[in-house]
Amino acid sequence: MEMEWIVVRERIKECKRVVVKVGTSTITYPNGLLNLKRMEELAWVLTDLRNSGKDVVLVTSGAIGVGAVRMGMVERPTVMRQKQAAAAVGQAMIMQIYHNFFDRYNQTVAQVLLTKEEVGTEERYQNTKNTMETLMELGVIPIVNANDTISTEEIGISDNDRLSAMVAEIIGGDVLILMTDIDALYDSDPKRNPMAKRISCVDWVTDEVRKMAGDKGSAFSVGGMLTKLQAAEICQEAGVKMAIVLGEDPTVIHRVIAGEDVGTFFNSKR
Ligand code: GLU
Repeated sequence: MEMEWIVVRERIKECKRVVVKVGTSTITYPNGLLNLKRMEELAWVLTDLRNSGKDVVLVTSGAIGVGAVRMGMVERPTVMRQKQAAAAVGQAMIMQIYHNFFDRYNQTVAQVLLTKEEVGTEERYQNTKNTMETLMELGVIPIVNANDTISTEEIGISDNDRLSAMVAEIIGGDVLILMTDIDALYDSDPKRNPMAKRISCVDWVTDEVRKMAGDKGSAFSVGGMLTKLQAAEICQEAGVKMAIVLGEDPTVIHRVIAGEDVGTFFNSKR
């Protein structure tokens, strides 16, 4: 890593507010059941971060997948009302597990379910910001997801990559960490090209960077690298730094905060 980047990454150590986003593939096994080991590790890493004096927000997916499995659906539902029903069941389930794991480390958590309106209208934006601020002042870790049960838009259009970037913007976060099933952005598809090179740092999301992402649904990950780059664009405009890292080992969060060269780091001008 070049000297200039070492300096930029090192500055992360001073960050005050951290948003971490985990995808469905990070907190579940391929059969759709919860990966409890990973959820527990996540709970202790995030509590430890909070104990060290940082404000922490977790954005989690998983409601639809986990709810669908619980109700015996063999595949992730595609019909909207079934997705909404699955989300209603699964959201309660994942919150219960998170609550239990965080409670083990004496950490209080809160559930915050957001729709597009919260970022679209001034009044609701302020309400959301005030609630999040108050929770953090009180030492709570807010756990955020889209309100899939009441908002069809969230399932159809938005995704938790962009949602987490919006959350980081609302709370004035310093860094957003996207935990996913690929360890970084590569200059070409690493599953097809063994010579593909990891991109360590991105200064600005340009057309050249966008080309590296491939299409949605490419070999990269569930939501695709595309929505991650869209999240990066929201972050760079909002002055939030961002990292894409492999979700397999939640202690990677500590490494990002220590300024180590892991995953792909996106700079911002603030
Ligand atoms: N909100 C969805 C869920 O909890 C996931 C959306 C996403 O991962 O982008 O299942």
